[in-house]
Amino acid sequence: MKDIAIMYHYVQAPGLKGIHPLHPDLFKKQLEWVLQQYEVVTPDQLGKPHQSKPRCVFTFDDATKDQYEVAFPILKEKGIPAYFTLMSGVFEKFKVPVVHLVHAALSYFSDEEIWDDLSRKVDVTKVAENSGIYKYETDMFRRYNKYALNFFLSEEESRSMLEPKLIQKFQTWDRFIESYYINMDEWRTMLKAGMVIGVHAVDHRAYTGNASQFFEDEIKPCKQFIEDHLGISPKWYTPAFGGGTLCWAMIEQLRPKLELEGFKGGFTTIEGFNEGHNDFWLNRFDCNRIPPVGNFV
Ligand SMILES: [Zn+2]
Repeated sequence: MKDIAIMYHYVQAPGLKGIHPLHPDLFKKQLEWVLQQYEVVTPDQLGKPHQSKPRCVFTFDDATKDQYEVAFPILKEKGIPAYFTLMSGVFEKFKVPVVHLVHAALSYFSDEEIWDDLSRKVDVTKVAENSGIYKYETDMFRRYNKYALNFFLSEEESRSMLEPKLIQKFQTWDRFIESYYINMDEWRTMLKAGMVIGVHAVDHRAYTGNASQFFEDEIKPCKQFIEDHLGISPKWYTPAFGGGTLCWAMIEQLRPKLELEGFKGGFTTIEGFNEGHNDFWLNRFDCNRIPPVGNFV
């Protein structure tokens, strides 16, 4: 049986222009398509023998507010379970990952304004000639901004550039975090409704190549946070950035540590089918590859 897992990030109507969300209408249509072809299950149910249909797990990364406000009510109404992952650094350290600072800054401020700030700090010609990886961005300033903030500047340089702008808009990180992410009361509501909650990260860092240290820094505190605040012991893990550039090393090195600490499995960003829970690491298709948005077969 060709089971699948689908990966979702933002599910909302277009409005914030820093991101490319899946429209709620398309999410509903996709749900209908999936329900005709698959039995939708929780990650734990993958370990059981399947019925007549292949199985599908809905997975949500990053725990942004739209997942609670848009996707969760649709799933709940239909009685469909899904797997969501929590990032604990935003609650314990009030520290927002750079990837989300970039999404937010590009949403709330014009590209010209951000580029104007940036061009005082960076070598403009180097950004221009290296920004080719974002060639799908038709706006020149958008292309330069994304390259400069995500690749050209160090994390600290990007933070020092983005944090003051967002604080100017939200006043406190508390307020930014409350508006951007699923809060603890909302997590409890989702848990009661039968949703599965797993570990995403502490600070949303890519795998570093040192399994024990990475587990101590990015996984264990998040697992502990979920145990302390939601009263459950998470059994599933979704690595930030799918592990990043060291993803294949992560797949090999992190598994023994995760198993030792009670994890049942992890969801990668590697595209492909699954066969029940035959492997610790499970493949995923991005939602943009699944009908009626895309065609993955
Ligand atoms: Zn993520």
